Amino acid sequence: MEESNRGKEKLKAIMFGAPGAGKGTYASRLQEKLDVEIIATGDIFRELIKEDSELGRKVRGYVEKGLLVPDDVVIEVLKQRLSKIPRGKGFILDGYPRTLDQAKALEAIAKIDVILLLDVPDWIIIERLSSRRICRDCGGVYNIRYLKPKVEGVCDECEGPLYQRSDDNPEVIEKRLQVYEEQAKPLLKYYEQKKVPIVVSKTTSLDQPPQPIVDRMIEELKRRKLA
Ligand code: ADP
Repeated sequence: MEESNRGKEKLKAIMFGAPGAGKGTYASRLQEKLDVEIIATGDIFRELIKEDSELGRKVRGYVEKGLLVPDDVVIEVLKQRLSKIPRGKGFILDGYPRTLDQAKALEAIAKIDVILLLDVPDWIIIERLSSRRICRDCGGVYNIRYLKPKVEGVCDECEGPLYQRSDDNPEVIEKRLQVYEEQAKPLLKYYEQKKVPIVVSKTTSLDQPPQPIVDRMIEELKRRKLA
């Protein structure tokens, strides 16, 4: 690993896509193959909410309604998390940036190599999110219809209990999709103007297995000397 990585820059990528597009699933599979950490702002907020700290109480209202947490909070949380990445390790951002101000704040800290854009039609997203389950212990993502755990309600990896996120309900899903539509175009335009390469992965059916998409992402990263 050390040897093959010598002289190479560590990967700094953004996994970009609608809620339910598969950002967490692909990022964790990439993590198994590449020397990267995942920074998922949504996961960080859910942890904060669980702790019931002052900050947790502040973000709860936004997350539960499917609204964006204010930029100053998100940017501070990201800075703190990024500062904990060990030297020599890369990262994949999942769920950040979601606004232009967040993108600009990121640019001041790190130069992003690539955007991994997930292109998934709304009907697949709605179907997936309403049957999504998450492991309470390790955050693993399952789907009770399309990506079932071996034992119902139990995580394959760590045997933790699976639960349904409170924002994975029809009204909040609709709000989250609407928020994504508004934020996505200006952000992608911003990165196009900055000439950051965008690698697009398309999903066209509900039962499309994730691994071939991940394998293609890795090939593409290797081709660009980013993995
Ligand atoms: P999804 O992408 O499936 O909507 P996430 O776990 O990424 O789920 O985010 C859940 C919620 O956390 C969002 O609906 C929003 O309220 C909040 N959130 C996460 N990341 C950000 C961010 N970068 N900026 C603002 N709010 C965020």
